[in-house]
Amino acid sequence: MARHRNVRGYNYDEDFEEDDLYGQSVEDDFCISPSTAAQFIYSRRDNPTAYAETLEEKYDYETEHSNDCIPSHQLTGAEKAKLDLCLDHMREVLGKSVPEKVMVEAVLSSKFDVQQALDSVLAQDNKQNKIKNEDAVIAGKATKGKVRDSQTSRIESDVVPKVTKMTVSGKRQTTGFEVPCVNAEENGHMPQKGLSAGDANVGVTEILPKPAFPPQTVQVSEEPTLTPTSVKKSGKAKQQIDVKAELEKRQGGKHLLNLVVIGHVDAGKSTLMGHLLYLLGNVNKRTMHKYEQESKKAGKASFAYAWVLDETGEERERGVTMDVGMTKFETKTKVITLMDAPGHKDFIPNMITGAAMADVAILVVDASRGEFEAGFETGGQTREHGLLVRSLGVTQLAVAVNKMDQVNWQQERFQEIVSKLGQFLKQAGFKESDVAYIPTSGLGGENLVTRSQASELTKWYEGKCLLEQIDSFKPPQRSVEKPFRLCVSDVFKDQGSGFCVTGKIEAGYVQVGDRLLAMPPNETCTVKGIALHDEPVDWAAAGDHVILTLTGMDIIKINVACIFCCPKEPIKACTRFRARILIFNIEVPITKGFPVLLHFQTVSEPATIRRLLSVLHKSTGEVTKKKA
Ligand code: GDP
Repeated sequence: MARHRNVRGYNYDEDFEEDDLYGQSVEDDFCISPSTAAQFIYSRRDNPTAYAETLEEKYDYETEHSNDCIPSHQLTGAEKAKLDLCLDHMREVLGKSVPEKVMVEAVLSSKFDVQQALDSVLAQDNKQNKIKNEDAVIAGKATKGKVRDSQTSRIESDVVPKVTKMTVSGKRQTTGFEVPCVNAEENGHMPQKGLSAGDANVGVTEILPKPAFPPQTVQVSEEPTLTPTSVKKSGKAKQQIDVKAELEKRQGGKHLLNLVVIGHVDAGKSTLMGHLLYLLGNVNKRTMHKYEQESKKAGKASFAYAWVLDETGEERERGVTMDVGMTKFETKTKVITLMDAPGHKDFIPNMITGAAMADVAILVVDASRGEFEAGFETGGQTREHGLLVRSLGVTQLAVAVNKMDQVNWQQERFQEIVSKLGQFLKQAGFKESDVAYIPTSGLGGENLVTRSQASELTKWYEGKCLLEQIDSFKPPQRSVEKPFRLCVSDVFKDQGSGFCVTGKIEAGYVQVGDRLLAMPPNETCTVKGIALHDEPVDWAAAGDHVILTLTGMDIIKINVACIFCCPKEPIKACTRFRARILIFNIEVPITKGFPVLLHFQTVSEPATIRRLLSVLHKSTGEVTKKKA
């Protein structure tokens, strides 16, 4: 079983000391209607590689600095954005020594060629300087010196890396790394100076990349236009595989499905899944017997099945899952990667790690009187987990109404829970047809892999057992033919050279010997080894949770949520982007300059709302108010 070591070592107390954000259950008024949810919450099944949605709408975009200098109606939205980016870059070089108007004219006459614009401005400047005093001439040289610097860096960039190493301008904040600023919107994909991720005034309402450098690459094109990569090919001649055919072969025609088990602490998640694995033959009788003996000795006999998934001493001692336990099992038509997420509120970030990688979820609720209510109401994690998985893109859910033995398999109790939960899940954005309820007993093993024969249940329930339900989940679309993308969920040092990262391959595939580009560090490395379910493999593809052993890069540069990608088709990095946001519940209105925390997978970064472009209708998505 693979575990996320780094995540475990994290001190959550420090993060949540002041506002115990994650410890709270979600209030009723956080809920949204299904139609609203459908509008705003993305579905990973429908949109497997959409890391960020590019908004097509033409917003009434006003450049911050140039409104008064150019007849804005003559420029398209994209041109205005390019102009702004060029001006940003010129300001970096020229400071305030040249009037805005002169820069705008230079950019427009050079057709957004920032280098040419800079040259022309400096040439003009020099002419004037010649007839001025000596000081002015020196100042002119100094400015030129800066330009030469940037030219030098450009020459270097042409020779060595694909996306050059970036210098950090501005102060670093929190976990900000050096973010290379690849031209995001226009797909220029050329190296240039970047900002730190936490740089001041990074806007979250717009995707506004810095100008591509050199400027002739500022062009609107759908496909990335990278110059041939200088990435070194691995020594061994690698045979390209037909990944689709290999996948078919590997999975025996079965679909791969990532399943996360969520629910309030003590709902019986580990017991349920541990027992399911045992019944499937994934845990042998001897091991199970050992767990039974050991748990009995420890005075925790009822936790024997939970020990299948709760591996560590501390987890067993405390009787709670802390980490994300990961294992594999098969159904008739699927290969399932099972992630058992912790239910305790202290470990919500670990739960998010699991949920962020899941395609579908099993929500376990405790049917016992008072216990369901405790998990469902304020302070419980049932609602919070439900909302979290939905907002992380999970659309299909099986609800295991567990510990039904405790309530004598009463139909009324089952119905009561189904109706309470059903209402909530609908509001949370789950389609009714995508949610199934199964009465179970994790401890007794009833209704897990075969339909229960217990007469108390069969007299009112004829539906699927848990395994049948898992088998009938719709498989997600995997983007194996897209460029490689893996988001790091853990980094650790292993024996031998290099280091390891774990994560789910979101798109594409990887082979041993491949060169990968890490972003934002913007450095390449070589894949020395791949492990899938702790087994070494030669390749892995979209949907797989893997451990990659990497060499040629310093571990220090890699953090959780870094992206490894194909060097030829790198992920776009930007410091500003447009986003549609859905506001659940706020105490103070959001305004321009509003500081926010931006969460992505398991990291969060401070950001600033630069501009509120418009207010959209909650259901239709139409613009109801411009310049909000
Ligand atoms: P988790 O925190 O959700 O993973 O819960 P565990 O699997 O650790 O279970 C918590 C407790 O509930 C343990 O003592 C289990 O034996 C007990 N439990 C789990 N499932 C059932 C069940 O179906 N029936 C009964 N009676 N007890 C159960």
